[in-house]
Amino acid sequence: MTTVVEPQEAAERKAQSAPREGSIFEHSHPGRCGYQLPALDVPERPLDSILAKSLRRNSIEGELEVSEVGVVRHFTRLSKLNVSIDAGMYPLGSCTMKHNPRINEEIARTPGFAFSHPLQPDHQVQGNLELIWNLEQTLKEIFGLPRVTLQPVAGAHGELTGIMMVRKAQEKAGNARKYILIPDSAHGTNPASAAFAGYQIKELKSNSRGTVDPATLAEAVTDEVAALMVTVPNTLGVFESEIRKFADILHAKGAYLYCDGANLNAFVGIARPGDMGIDVMHTNLHKTFSTPHGGGGPGAGPVGVSKRLVPFLPAPTVERREDGSFYLEYDHPDSIGRMRAFNGNFGVLVRALTYMRSMGPEGLRRIAELAVLNANYIRARLKGSYYLPYDAPSLHEVVFSDKLQSAQEVHTLDVAKRLMDYGFHPPTIYFPLIVSGALMIEPTESEPKEELDSFCEAMLAIAREVKERPELVRTAPHTTPVRRLDEARAARNPILRWQK
Ligand SMILES: *Cc1c(COP(=O)(O)O)cnc(C)c1O
Repeated sequence: MTTVVEPQEAAERKAQSAPREGSIFEHSHPGRCGYQLPALDVPERPLDSILAKSLRRNSIEGELEVSEVGVVRHFTRLSKLNVSIDAGMYPLGSCTMKHNPRINEEIARTPGFAFSHPLQPDHQVQGNLELIWNLEQTLKEIFGLPRVTLQPVAGAHGELTGIMMVRKAQEKAGNARKYILIPDSAHGTNPASAAFAGYQIKELKSNSRGTVDPATLAEAVTDEVAALMVTVPNTLGVFESEIRKFADILHAKGAYLYCDGANLNAFVGIARPGDMGIDVMHTNLHKTFSTPHGGGGPGAGPVGVSKRLVPFLPAPTVERREDGSFYLEYDHPDSIGRMRAFNGNFGVLVRALTYMRSMGPEGLRRIAELAVLNANYIRARLKGSYYLPYDAPSLHEVVFSDKLQSAQEVHTLDVAKRLMDYGFHPPTIYFPLIVSGALMIEPTESEPKEELDSFCEAMLAIAREVKERPELVRTAPHTTPVRRLDEARAARNPILRWQK
């Protein structure tokens, strides 16, 4: 059960802990010592014979003198300020922040995997090559596509890889093109990747259901269009139910269908992108397949391709010989080349295959069923208290807006900040951009019902507070070590070192 934290109580709590906060430098006291060197067990040499006097310091400015218990407590307290998926639900929409099963970590630490060197010859790392090969086979099955590269190390890197293959294929056919079509609900990496690959972007407007109309697409596809990049399900959590038609429209004009499948947990094991006519897609192992996520990596964004694009895959590929041994094949004359040194983020690949194998085919399907069930449970509980801008059925995430709260001059940012007082990481806010004041919630399949209930109760309590005591929400958070920060300034002018 969540309890409301009153600002008064929060202020008192903070006052009590004040002397314990601050930088480790502020805890320094002359004469305190955290570590004693053991007695010398070799003959002592005069200092002058080791280091010239001119190179020696007699004192250190700002020398830190702290006891062991002081150091341990300082860093333990700091670590408790971290919000993490290991401490509670992390409902960031589009990001799939779910539990990372510990078996993944155990297998990734197997010495044969953890201590192998990327420059070892193929015959010494047969197990590693076999793992990469097996992961490709599994992803081929999941995608319903004939080949998959495991080189890209992020979702955005996968997008770039996929679009570069499209580009090369069309250039080779003497059919180079200029534009990539991208719906207005797309993840921001899509236009960035397409631009990086040398294309201009044309935006497609979503319809009132939040999806792309085949008629809108048909009108936009000219013989200057290389591909459509579409996120499935899209960032509203809505499935593009006309996707087969998209494929037909594009293919008839010699264009390709790119699928952003970062959040494949919405339909893994239920539907296969290859069967929908998709030519090229990436998924994020660090989202759907449970490898750790955040802080900029390491991740992995494997890319699957249809038959037409196979010759353009990054080289080398991992192949199996008749006798069952594995090798790296470099001989791909039409390859776009290397996208990454060695074999991508190998440790991430080990974790992902471990997850797939420990789940099994039935378990993978169950992931999608639970991800969708959990999002819809939240949707049903919060509907009425928060506004649902799109009525189409939700898959793995649900997007509300602050329309009902705005009448009280309370906005999405305030609701997000107030959630922190209730002990929850806020969901994604103000994205997707096509929803004004968006609150984008993705609980993922790994949250139990009790956690979903606590989250919903906090959201419902906030909706009541907005009506009865809007000021409380407008001035939140009240219980965190710092209040509202100037986030833009913090990002542009970060002060990362303690200053006196
Ligand atoms: C997370 C995400 C990406 C980008 O993945 P990175 O690994 O952060 O580069 C792309 N598209 C969608 C839909 C995503 O959710």
